[in-house]
Amino acid sequence: MLSPHLAKKIVSDVRRLIHEDLIIVDTHGIIIASTNPTRVGQFHEGAFLVCQEKQKRIITKEDEGKLKGVKAGINLPVFFHGDVIGVIGITGDPANVSPYGELLKKMTELLIQENYYTEQLQLEARALETFVFDWLQAREWSPSLHERAQLFHIDLACSRRVIIASLNETKQTISVDMWKYVQIVWSDARDVIVRWGNDRLLILQTDDDKERTIAKLKTMQRSLLDKYDVTLHIGCGKMGDSKQVYHSYKQAERALHISKQTGDIVFDEDLRLDMCLEDISPATKQELIKRTIEPLIHDEELLHTLRTLFANDLSLKRTAEALHIHINTLHYRLKKIQDYTKLNVRHLEHIITLYLAIRFLDETTKKIMCKRFIFICLYIAGFPAFLYAYSTNKGKKVDDMITEQVKRQFIQIVGAENYDDSKAGRLVYSYDATPNFQSLPDAVIAPRNTKEVSEIVKICNNERIPIVPRGSGTNLCAGTCPTEGGIVIIFKHMNRILEIDEENLTVTVQPGVITLDLIQAVEAKGLFYPPDPSSMKISTIGGNINENSGGLRGLKYGVTRDYVMGLEVVLANGDIIRTGGKLAKDVAGYDLTRLFVGSEGTLGIITEATLKLIPMPETKQTMLALYEDLEAAARSVSAIIANKIIPTTLEFLDQPTLQVVESFVNIGLPTDVKAVLLIEQDGPKEVVERDMEAMARICREQHAISVQVAQTEEEANNLRTARRSALSALARLKPTTILEDATVPRSQIANMVKAINDIAKKYNVNICTFGHAGDGNLHPTCPTDVRDKDELHRVEQAFEDIFAKAIELGGTITGEHGVGVMKAPYLEWKLGKEGIAAMQAIKRALDPNNIMNPGKVFAKSTRKRVVITR
Ligand SMILES: Cc1cc2nc3c(=O)[nH]c(=O)nc-3n(C[C@H](O)[C@H](O)[C@H](O)COP(=O)(O)OP(=O)(O)OC[C@H]3O[C@@H](n4cnc5c(N)ncnc54)[C@H](O)[C@@H]3O)c2cc1C
Repeated sequence: MLSPHLAKKIVSDVRRLIHEDLIIVDTHGIIIASTNPTRVGQFHEGAFLVCQEKQKRIITKEDEGKLKGVKAGINLPVFFHGDVIGVIGITGDPANVSPYGELLKKMTELLIQENYYTEQLQLEARALETFVFDWLQAREWSPSLHERAQLFHIDLACSRRVIIASLNETKQTISVDMWKYVQIVWSDARDVIVRWGNDRLLILQTDDDKERTIAKLKTMQRSLLDKYDVTLHIGCGKMGDSKQVYHSYKQAERALHISKQTGDIVFDEDLRLDMCLEDISPATKQELIKRTIEPLIHDEELLHTLRTLFANDLSLKRTAEALHIHINTLHYRLKKIQDYTKLNVRHLEHIITLYLAIRFLDETTKKIMCKRFIFICLYIAGFPAFLYAYSTNKGKKVDDMITEQVKRQFIQIVGAENYDDSKAGRLVYSYDATPNFQSLPDAVIAPRNTKEVSEIVKICNNERIPIVPRGSGTNLCAGTCPTEGGIVIIFKHMNRILEIDEENLTVTVQPGVITLDLIQAVEAKGLFYPPDPSSMKISTIGGNINENSGGLRGLKYGVTRDYVMGLEVVLANGDIIRTGGKLAKDVAGYDLTRLFVGSEGTLGIITEATLKLIPMPETKQTMLALYEDLEAAARSVSAIIANKIIPTTLEFLDQPTLQVVESFVNIGLPTDVKAVLLIEQDGPKEVVERDMEAMARICREQHAISVQVAQTEEEANNLRTARRSALSALARLKPTTILEDATVPRSQIANMVKAINDIAKKYNVNICTFGHAGDGNLHPTCPTDVRDKDELHRVEQAFEDIFAKAIELGGTITGEHGVGVMKAPYLEWKLGKEGIAAMQAIKRALDPNNIMNPGKVFAKSTRKRVVITR
């Protein structure tokens, strides 16, 4: 009744009227809304007592020391239907706030009441829609349907006509306001009128006077046109038995179809030819087109001639005039038509055949165009969920994504132990490593092999159920947050290293293999798999491939993409394909392997991968360069590369990051310097020594105050671990950690670091920076608190400026963390409209029903950061 959501709304509504601090407390004494967000969740002993005593309480200054969580002011019980349902508290001098306390209490009670009635009305409307839906489906009336009819005071004894009114404008929907207005205009209490999907109205009318009905419908059409600028197409079925309205519904649909072509209000009983034609199957129509006008199909001039002839009631003179051609030309064209089709326009049966063929042809073309148009509109609009559910989930409750029958099918494939739709199970997979994103899936499924994945996908494709493939959920772009519900597929059973092929230097794995397990397994054989994201202890190969992840060794060895040689992929229609393989050279066909790398689960599900290995480098050295000047460190990065040295690792940490990391790992990192560079080189001993010496010299030239080489592998390993812990360490500072991934050309790293500092100052936010400096890939990170709306707003603005700066310096919005939901609004900055369109074309071709990780990569809104709940 008094949900936190409603409480927050009340607090913000009331706050507009007064300036004192307000709280709303539930009956357990817990503050559920407050103008001061830090109080939310705290126990308020004063309010608790008010609930017990059911009367107001003045809280004095002295009470602040005696009662838990209180502040001086006044606490008043909020009543609903005679029960206390919460407490409203106003902070301030009791003498000042008491006078209007009662007024606020009354206002709160009224708001709660209004909210309650609105909810009731919505629920009733939904219940009536569901009832009408069942009514239209029912061939026989069950007792429960009778009871429901009585409940809605629906008279089943009278005859009814079904009327369907549909908005003309494809993108327009019936708003709440419009709906209320329609109910006023159509004011016959005996009729049942409901909203039918987003853009239709359904009326089950009792009045059998056709003239009156037409007049009423015309008034409705006119009123909506005047007030909302929308046109209604209207189809009416025949009057009939209330218990067999499905006949009338079918007729109304048929009439509506014609109304959409003619623009008139159409009654099914008036249809003649159209009535017969509706019953001809699409296959028969196609066959007729094929047998008659197929030879003309690409000759638009001849088709147009025929259409004009029919539109002019077969008059040759008027047809020639309409076409602006000489009558002889018309004769010539008709002769040509006869030659092609063997049908003579002077022959009655032939002319009827031609007429029908043209009509069917136009119908088909129109349908295709219409479907394409709707698809494009929906694609752009992002599938309004209600319409989507109505059009695709036939016979299902609108928000029932997975019906009992579909659930049974899933369980049959994977077994009950691998299907989880419990609340707890779904909660676990409702978020990933990205802050502020959470959304419940409808179920979590753990397939055991590729075949099972394929069978699951086929069902999802038929039922239009979204699929979110998920590794370990460590991505930082909300890529595995099931923002549109559906199923999450996890790979806990598909986590085997299938083969290490020492002759071809490849490893073949299932997607659920943990990155570090793979690295260690190949290293045991003297081989090397370089991609090493900092999250490698938990991230999976499936996730790495789909994010095209990089790591500390990326500068010299590249990113995941550079090691993926072949894939097994389950496509959105359930087909299983293999791309690439172990071959060092292979140019047969498009490079589909690369297409799937970095596709973030939006194009298919990777069920197996063959990865490239290289020999283990002979030796490795690690050093730390310390700086008093942040930009000097950044300049060293550019200078090292400019001197044609490519170290394995060239990582940057600024002072705030260093301090937090040191307090986290405790290995004696210097915390009094402004920045450090962690530098590593591997390879033959003499090359490593030569490069390390040269890099140490360059760092000193760029004013490093000290350069220290790790003396033991343990020391080196500590330094690497410290760098890898940067994010985890920063995450301890504040409740919310926002980490970004802006990347610039290496030569611009100094400019970017400077810009980040300037931007942080401009917006008065704390930004710590670390990252793969050698790749130009920085992770400006802001420890913040999502509840501090003001600061969060400034953080958003700061990061927007950082992205803009990265692009301005020739960089990109994400170097390795992917696009997901978070970066989607920025993608156009990098790719341009045309680039996005090209990507959308690929997506549509491979996943026409948009079931693969929908809502990711392609922006639905331009809002840059959102908290999503479902
Ligand atoms: C502390 C920390 C440090 C990090 N450091 C780095 C770093 O150094 N470098 C870096 O690049 N990233 C880093 N990341 C980001 C993240 O770890 C990587 O993106 C990683 O590759 C994700 O792997 P995952 O198994 O967790 O995948 P998930 O997060 O589960 O999934 C990632 C994407 O892959 C898709 N996906 C997963 N499996 C499949 C499959 N089998 N088929 C199709 N699609 C699939 C998902 O739908 C999603 O879009 C870090 C993250 C954290 C939390």
